[in-house]
Amino acid sequence: MAYDFDLVVIGAGPGGYVAAIRAAQHGLKVACVEKRGTLGGTCLNVGCIPSKALLHASELYEEVTGGHMKTWGIEASARIDVGAMIAEKDKAVKELTGGIEMLFKKNKVTWLKGTGRFLEPHKIEVTGADGATSTVTARNALIATGSEVASLPGIKIDGKVVISSTEALTLPKVPEHLVVIGGGVIGLELGSVWRRLGAKVTVVEYMDRLTPTMDADLSKELEKILKRQGMEIMTATKVAEVKVKKAGATVVVEPAKGGAAQEIACDVVLMSVGRRPYLDGLGLEKIGVGLDERGRVRVGHDFATTVPGVWAIGDAIPGPMLAHKAEDEGVACADNIAGLNGIVNHDVIPSVIYTMPEVASVGKTEEELKAAGVAYKAGKFPFLANSRAKANRDTAGFVKVLADAKTDRVLGVHIIGSLAGTMIAQAAQAMEFGASAEDIALTCHAHPTHPEALKEAAMAAYNGKPIHI
Ligand code: FAD
Ligand code: NAD
Repeated sequence: MAYDFDLVVIGAGPGGYVAAIRAAQHGLKVACVEKRGTLGGTCLNVGCIPSKALLHASELYEEVTGGHMKTWGIEASARIDVGAMIAEKDKAVKELTGGIEMLFKKNKVTWLKGTGRFLEPHKIEVTGADGATSTVTARNALIATGSEVASLPGIKIDGKVVISSTEALTLPKVPEHLVVIGGGVIGLELGSVWRRLGAKVTVVEYMDRLTPTMDADLSKELEKILKRQGMEIMTATKVAEVKVKKAGATVVVEPAKGGAAQEIACDVVLMSVGRRPYLDGLGLEKIGVGLDERGRVRVGHDFATTVPGVWAIGDAIPGPMLAHKAEDEGVACADNIAGLNGIVNHDVIPSVIYTMPEVASVGKTEEELKAAGVAYKAGKFPFLANSRAKANRDTAGFVKVLADAKTDRVLGVHIIGSLAGTMIAQAAQAMEFGASAEDIALTCHAHPTHPEALKEAAMAAYNGKPIHI
């Protein structure tokens, strides 16, 4: 049978647009259905990019207001124009989403503007913003529809008082008091933005520590530092109710284990308790695509779903909801569709929280190794003993290397420090190459640089003999 396209991708986020481009590079005829007015998905429009732009802008502001400049004898004062800050962020988003449109043109990927839904496994209907429908046939279809914000039972996100990350990226003014529900990645990043700009920020986290899936040493250090920065943090605390008032809200919280309730008055509530796959209206039940117990599309290692010719990647399938994970899956899946051998090593996916200091991890945490009964060695090195960090007056945090007790193979690297997000790439590459702690310890690192702390932590893990502590 002749099809309109070799591949139709539904969703143009980092998973979908990358898969479309890679498939086109392989010579396939490709279309991508996207209902948003711009390409790039959550990541470019309302996720990674705008949040990092505001984190950067608010860091600049805090360089002055936080006294860092004064430390260096630089007297300065700062005033914020929130509107101008948001506009500059929007400009960055526009440039990047426009860039994807150019890449589609360059690679001859057809953008089918509208909402896609399966009529049959190889037949997709596209409904445009004006309600007009068209149908295309595809030899292969790729589900890359991403995720949407989750809420708590009984709490409605109204976009004004109770907001999601999307509205937190465009607040018209600095809130007096922002209550963040969920002390994970979004809560801490966007909470940091608005705290730096002058809001009082209270984070309510259900578990007994922030970022509960990260290595516990990182969580503890991060909590200490964020508290020092002025963030109020309530762990082991649950939200019983959010009462929306004429102006603002009252958040009723109580200890997670039960106990006396407490009311917190605030003007804005940020809901950041996680995201869930977005598969609404796709018609997956009609074509028989299998989902797992958490509503994620079930796939094999090759990203094939339970229906032949239908594939899935990114936030819509299991695994961490991260843009780079979606991108790598997009490349691997397109390779598989083209008859090549595309794989993703899900054991080596770095993750970064872009607070200041940043927090970055790759591989197993100490808690995971203990639970799995793996014998391991740990080497830790503080930035306090790293010459560049010391020279920059930027000594918060440490590097921790976990290595197999017998083979010395690196099993996990966990970093909290101003450049952690950049440094973790070296650790991921070392792990991808099957490095031992000794390999990192014997690699010559430029001096004076923050990555020397990784070398010293590897020395500590390898034979317990770092030089500078
Ligand atoms: P998405 O990016 O969600 O894209 C899916 C696209 O599909 C959307 O554009 C949607 O409009 C479209 N779509 C859905 N259904 C249909 C349909 N039926 N028809 C047509 N189109 C459809 N990750 C990081 O790695 N680093 C970060 O710094 C980071 N920061 C983040 C900050 C925030 C505030 C948020 C919310 C997320 C952040 N993430 C970050 C996560 C990251 O954005 C996601 O993991 C990533 O975007 C997932 O990519 P995806 O391609 O699977 O889906
Ligand atoms: P998350 O999973 O990172 O954090 C959610 C937090 O909410 C957890 O700490 C959880 O214990 C807590 N929680 C859950 N139920 C709660 C309750 N009833 N009361 C209080 N706390 C509760 O989710 P998120 O921060 O919403 O982010 C969503 C996704 O977006 C994440 O999977 C993340 O990977 C991705 N993201 C990534 C980045 C990045 O890579 N820098 C940035 C933003 C978002």
